[in-house]
Amino acid sequence: MNQYIEETNNGLVHTYNRFPVVLDRGEGVYLYDTDGKKYLDFAAGIAVSGLGYGNQELNQTLKDQVDRLLHTSNLYYNTSCGEAAAALKRVSEMDRIFFTNSGTEAIEGALKSARKYAWKKGTGRYEFIAMDHSFHGRSIGAVSVTGSEAYRTPFEPMLPGVSFAKFNDLDSVKARVTDCTCAIILEPLQGEGGINRADREFMEGIRRLCDEEGILMICDEIQCGMGRTGEMFAWQSYGTKPDIMAMAKAIGNGIPVGAFAMTEKVAEYSLEPGDHGTTYGGNPLACAAVAKTVEIFEREDIVSHVREIGGYLAGKLDALVSEYDTVLERRGVGLIQGIKVEEPAGEVISRALEAGLIVISARNNVIRLVPPLIIEKKHVDEMLEKLKRAIEA
Ligand SMILES: *Cc1c(COP(=O)(O)O)cnc(C)c1O
Repeated sequence: MNQYIEETNNGLVHTYNRFPVVLDRGEGVYLYDTDGKKYLDFAAGIAVSGLGYGNQELNQTLKDQVDRLLHTSNLYYNTSCGEAAAALKRVSEMDRIFFTNSGTEAIEGALKSARKYAWKKGTGRYEFIAMDHSFHGRSIGAVSVTGSEAYRTPFEPMLPGVSFAKFNDLDSVKARVTDCTCAIILEPLQGEGGINRADREFMEGIRRLCDEEGILMICDEIQCGMGRTGEMFAWQSYGTKPDIMAMAKAIGNGIPVGAFAMTEKVAEYSLEPGDHGTTYGGNPLACAAVAKTVEIFEREDIVSHVREIGGYLAGKLDALVSEYDTVLERRGVGLIQGIKVEEPAGEVISRALEAGLIVISARNNVIRLVPPLIIEKKHVDEMLEKLKRAIEA
């Protein structure tokens, strides 16, 4: 193990099982480690670096912003915050945006927005229905709605009033609705949970249920949003507009930033001055990243590119499923896809790393492919060649 790893391991809380690789720089869709080894990146920092590494237009914007204004406080407006909010409003179809520093905080804000709405309306509603195998982050609130016992149990007791329904099973959701149900929270496409895409009937059913019962619909678009499914946000392919939405990961292309958003209907009764805040949220640097990232996405029509390359990737992965008995199934859409394998995914992933390919897992036996959205067909071909070596080894 190299010296750098020894030293940093001594100083970090041991919360991650890290691979013995020290990454040093990136270019396009490739990463390089401190030994100069080149890796094709099909993880994008866990669905973050949609525009890949070293986008010069974005980098120049960030450098200019560093020189102009790095930080101010939320007691004042700042120009990049307004631009970023306008950009996100445009692509998310939401009316009001609140900037956070991470996805987890976006979820916290979404939950608080829903609770405040119910409180102000005097409905007495406070319960949340979440999905099995969901992932919403690691704070107590976010982990309380995360559908994985392993993430929750050591930190109990969780928030009261949360129940879990089966994903893609509307009856299971309906069975959990009570007079106190405040909101239903779901990822239109579960990333961490194994690349599980919501069926159309399920999404439409949830929307209808929410409308009939006076429940708010919260979509967690943190991983599946920002172009990854071939729509700017995953819910848009169903036409099932949520009342509240959480975003993060790719919206700043690597600058730490998240946001939650709501429709005017919610905003009218929800958070008011004093209800919620954050020192860094809406920070000029983070917001310059969001405004520019969205601008590039729109100008370059990244979403159309994702549809095209995503279709190509799906075809190649389907062929892999036919070719190998140990590759059981393909899941997902666009550039958020997974293959279910027979052996623990971690073992294939370690061998892929050896072969110069970075991929990640989603639950135990799914290899998750969430590359930069700018990949070309040749990168898909290169990925397959390396992945096949890892599967065969
Ligand atoms: C990553 C993720 C989160 C948490 O975001 P952080 O920025 O890590 O706090 C929440 N929900 C989903 C769907 C995610 O993929």
